[in-house]
Amino acid sequence: MNDVNPINYRIHLEPDLRTFRFSASTEILAETSRPVNEITLNAVRLAFWGCRVRVNGEFADCPFYVDTLKEEVRVCLPREMTGRVLLRISYEGELNDRMAGFYRSGYGAEGAAKYAAVTQFEESDARRAFPCFDHPAKKATFDVEMVVDEDLTAISNGPIAEEKRLGDGRKVVRFQQTPKMSTYLVFFGVGEFDFIENPGETPIRVATMPGMTKHARFGLEFGRKALEFCEDYYGVEYPLPKLDLIAIPDFAAGAMENWGAITFRENLLLHYADITSRAGEQRICEVIAHEIAHQWFGNLVTPSDWKYLWLNESFATYFGYGVVTYYYPEWDLWDQFLHGQTDTALARDALKETIPIEIPGGEHVVINASTAPIIYNKGGSILRQVVGYIGEEAFREGLRRYLKDHTYACASSHNLWEALEEVSEKPVTTMMESWIEQPGFPLVEVARDGAQLLLTQTRFTYLSIESNQAWVIPVAVKVFYEGGDSKTISTLLDSRETSIDIGADAIAYKINLGQTGFYRVKYRRKGDLWELGKRVLSRELPPVDRWGLQNDLYALVRRGDAPLDDYLDFVSNYEHEGDFLPLVSIAGNLFQAYLVMEGNRRATVASVGKSFLERVLSHIGYEPEQDRRYTTSILRDQIIVHAALYGSGDVVEFARGRFASLMGGRSIHPDIMKSVMQIGALDGNREAFQWFDKTLKCSESEHERMNILAALGSFRDGELIKEIQEYVLKEVPDRNKFIPIQYMALNPHAMPAMWQWYVSHVGVLEQFHPIHYERVIEAIVPVCGIGREQEVRAFFEDYMKQKDKARDVIKLSLEKLEINSRMRVSCEV
Ligand SMILES: [Zn+2]
Repeated sequence: MNDVNPINYRIHLEPDLRTFRFSASTEILAETSRPVNEITLNAVRLAFWGCRVRVNGEFADCPFYVDTLKEEVRVCLPREMTGRVLLRISYEGELNDRMAGFYRSGYGAEGAAKYAAVTQFEESDARRAFPCFDHPAKKATFDVEMVVDEDLTAISNGPIAEEKRLGDGRKVVRFQQTPKMSTYLVFFGVGEFDFIENPGETPIRVATMPGMTKHARFGLEFGRKALEFCEDYYGVEYPLPKLDLIAIPDFAAGAMENWGAITFRENLLLHYADITSRAGEQRICEVIAHEIAHQWFGNLVTPSDWKYLWLNESFATYFGYGVVTYYYPEWDLWDQFLHGQTDTALARDALKETIPIEIPGGEHVVINASTAPIIYNKGGSILRQVVGYIGEEAFREGLRRYLKDHTYACASSHNLWEALEEVSEKPVTTMMESWIEQPGFPLVEVARDGAQLLLTQTRFTYLSIESNQAWVIPVAVKVFYEGGDSKTISTLLDSRETSIDIGADAIAYKINLGQTGFYRVKYRRKGDLWELGKRVLSRELPPVDRWGLQNDLYALVRRGDAPLDDYLDFVSNYEHEGDFLPLVSIAGNLFQAYLVMEGNRRATVASVGKSFLERVLSHIGYEPEQDRRYTTSILRDQIIVHAALYGSGDVVEFARGRFASLMGGRSIHPDIMKSVMQIGALDGNREAFQWFDKTLKCSESEHERMNILAALGSFRDGELIKEIQEYVLKEVPDRNKFIPIQYMALNPHAMPAMWQWYVSHVGVLEQFHPIHYERVIEAIVPVCGIGREQEVRAFFEDYMKQKDKARDVIKLSLEKLEINSRMRVSCEV
């Protein structure tokens, strides 16, 4: 089929929001370089009425065969044809409720639910709406036309070219032809959309469900900023005549970069005054920037195959943080990047069950709970490493060249390296091959012998593995001398070992200065690390390095290389720590250890955690009003919950008061709303549950609903937990069912019963959207499976024999379970 390429699609759609069906026709103009007598297109769950081909100016009927398993329709041509072929296919489909393909999204008060119809196609669901060559490299232009009720609004990738009444209460809306683009980026939608617009050379609109534009101003304004940044940085103008940002209630992922018509979950685009927290506000900006960066990375220059999907997601992730930092440097977003992106990637990629960033066998690559941390988080972190190596200027120039050379076309990884290498004149290709094409990442071990540091590299995994892999690692070392002197030494570790002369008079050294390198560090002599601990105390190291030291040590504890007590001991160096990044990381590591341990060991971690967090809270205060930094608010909202679980009476008393205010109808500061609700649940009874239920159903803010869903997973009372598990399946909309379940899996009071609940409800749970079902498994298995490993393993062995669902995520969750179980056993006293 590679000889046949699409040139243009004319898609005509007549969606009916009452019957949830659409009738349609698609004309495909394709070109074939050699004679063919059939054409194979992708299609799923479409009922075909007829298929015709133009021969000598007339349309002739063709037989066609549907292959359900292969998701294909094979069209037999009346004779061998070469050159241009025009097919016209008429068919019908369902506006489904699965949040994929052309689907319906509900809104409005209960009982009077209304619907819009929208699309979500990545990676391979365009075939659910129109027959097509559903591969990113098969780019074509699109002419979309929709017949809809006169009082509804239609949106697609391009602006409306023409709108005509049909006289029967309906109208036909024709959109301008798109530039050459991939099928997965096509969008069409119809509903009672409201708009606000930011005019300009490229008009930007936010589209919402009726009455919601009052929450749209913030996202609209940031959308303009992000667009301006990207045009300037990339040196290529935004290629479409308009940009729509569309808030969609029922949405499975976070957002989707459809060209010129980006879709979002409501809470990731709409900003609700007095409800959206600063964390939420930041996240809105980051997601908008991410999706707008895709308008170039992915939409203008597209991966030539799904195996290069990282070219989309790594850049969008990187610029999601970069764009926001440009406008709001005071938000410390790169610190949050290390904690949220790099650390997540390091944890994911340390499993034996991992994959390279450039995923081999690309055809069936999908974004899921197994691949996303690699192609988004690790990919973005590797880009940060490249920037650290070649510098900002060369990076920017290289990207400009790459975009210019492949505009409206496709690219592979090598095209990018070549551009960066040419500009920087550094061996980027060799270095990047080692990071992109092989799985995992290195552990750099360092031992000092007098004036020499001996650096060696091996693959870092939590469980032992046979590997002779090596990476080309840019290593920066900071060396400290008597009298306060210090210097930085940079080297490229491109073999298994190397040595550096730091001088016999050096008193301490820190590897991976600035934490730009994607690797873990192990100081072979404990004394060398403890010496650095003193520098943590005296703040001679910047926050990012203070973060890295304890975080690498915790990873070594997880790996079984160091006892947990070493970590608890080392953390005492952070007694006066005031910076977000080390604090949020220590809080996260302690909480992880707390969940994994049991009995006395859990009590020990709780006691260390309680005094650590109470000290932090006494310093930053409980109330967010005075916060000068966003990160302070974000930190507080997380650690308050941990402190309550560790038994901090002060924290519980504070939260109890604020929660009573909430239930009494008074408002509290948005930056503690989430934690107060969670502690309200932890501390709460049936009355609290009823209040959550009522508020969840009448709230018009998806941000508030998110807070409530987290709280629903946070109850202590066993009877209520059981009741809420059933409530979630019955009452919570499909798009959000996984959220309280994830929180229950992190709730020590709900954890013991979660595995049994999963087993007895697996039939219902596996009906969730695939990415949500994976999140459920990934949340429950690694922690709630501790103590019943054999049972869990046997269950999934059997499950995987019967079913194909969530296989990757099951495997990695079982590995995480093994790591956690080992940690519990080895850290017992
Ligand atoms: Zn993305």
